Amino acid sequence: MKMTCVDHLRCVVCGATYAPETRLMCELCGADGILDVVYDYDKARRSLEQSPLAGRASQTLWRYRELLPVDASSARIPDLSVGCTPLTPAPRLARYLGLDSLLIKDDGRNPTGSLKDRASALAVALACAEGKDVIACSSTGNAASSLAGMAASMGMRSVIFVPKDTPEPKLTQLLAFGATVLRVQGSYYDAFQLCQSACAISGWYNRNCAINPWLVEGKKTVALEICEQLDWKVPDWVAVSVGDGCTIAGIWKGFREFKLLGLIDRTPRMLGVQASGADAVLQAFRTGSLPPDRPENTVADSIKVGVPRNWRKALQAIHESGGTMISVDDSEILEAIGYTGSLSGIFAEPAASTSVAGLRKAVAEGYVDSDASVVTVITGNGLKDTRSARLAVGQPHDVSPDGRELKDLLAGHGYRG
Ligand SMILES: *Cc1c(COP(=O)(O)O)cnc(C)c1O
Repeated sequence: MKMTCVDHLRCVVCGATYAPETRLMCELCGADGILDVVYDYDKARRSLEQSPLAGRASQTLWRYRELLPVDASSARIPDLSVGCTPLTPAPRLARYLGLDSLLIKDDGRNPTGSLKDRASALAVALACAEGKDVIACSSTGNAASSLAGMAASMGMRSVIFVPKDTPEPKLTQLLAFGATVLRVQGSYYDAFQLCQSACAISGWYNRNCAINPWLVEGKKTVALEICEQLDWKVPDWVAVSVGDGCTIAGIWKGFREFKLLGLIDRTPRMLGVQASGADAVLQAFRTGSLPPDRPENTVADSIKVGVPRNWRKALQAIHESGGTMISVDDSEILEAIGYTGSLSGIFAEPAASTSVAGLRKAVAEGYVDSDASVVTVITGNGLKDTRSARLAVGQPHDVSPDGRELKDLLAGHGYRG
């Protein structure tokens, strides 16, 4: 870690600081003691002045080396190309949502189809630097498939604990990447706990983003890319779906650090969107503490989290940014898959369309002004869960090969000729 600008680790609960070794949790705060990586920002600033971002060739997240705990010039990193996903204008979708304009950060275009690749790329690089050759995680799907893909790219083994209701495409992806898949006959919480204890016993590298402070550093590159892609003109709002809370916290950290470095002059407000069937972070936003026992019941499997580990960091992001949180129910999430796809050409999995559904509601309820500049993050590709999508996007029309129904059918859909 000598080559990087990492300075120390700080507990988000008590503020205790630790040297940047491989520690995962605060000694004093136990299971609550999530750590945060703090950089030497003077060193980062000097380095960025000497070698401005605009001159860098890398079109991957590794271009932001000053704000990452891995220096890609000296460390082994996966060959897969992670990050630098497109920021696509979606004018028709914007109008439908009641906005003048909207940009979609399409993170479903990462190598394994989700934003999680940004964390997993760091996970395998860090594990490798520590001399580990097995890396494990528990996941509702995307963290797992991305870890398995990154591990395959590095030639490492991966052990994955999934809850029993993981969608088939994500499971298949894992198996295709050669992971050892352990399907826990229980909830995400059970899978998480089992993975924690297996890692503690076997010494495997633990990729559970919620407690591993290093991985969120990969997620923050979403924000760094948005700033560069908008030529440093920061949007008013960034909408992100929330499960454990690491993604929104990571993205907010990226904006905050770019402001600290003087690269942007303001930061956006963060809109955190949860599924109403798994809304523990939203409840904590309203009451100040995590509810004791929250259900996890939503089609959006990637954000189906009853016991979020990173709610404190997520709420910090919402509060510091002057943002807000909102929840949407499953029918709104599924509907959003359909109108996002048909009005922008971008296919979102349920946990990703959640941010669009939340944005729609936030505009309707007056949280987000119609003339605001808005980015919504599509966190995962729709091909990851076509079964859910099919609940929302209708059915094909069966026609006979002689085409006898064609004329009436097409006329009925407004096609002429
Ligand atoms: C993991 C994930 C999220 C939410 O991230 P958290 O860090 O759990 O809040 C959202 N969308 C998709 C597609 C994900 O895989």
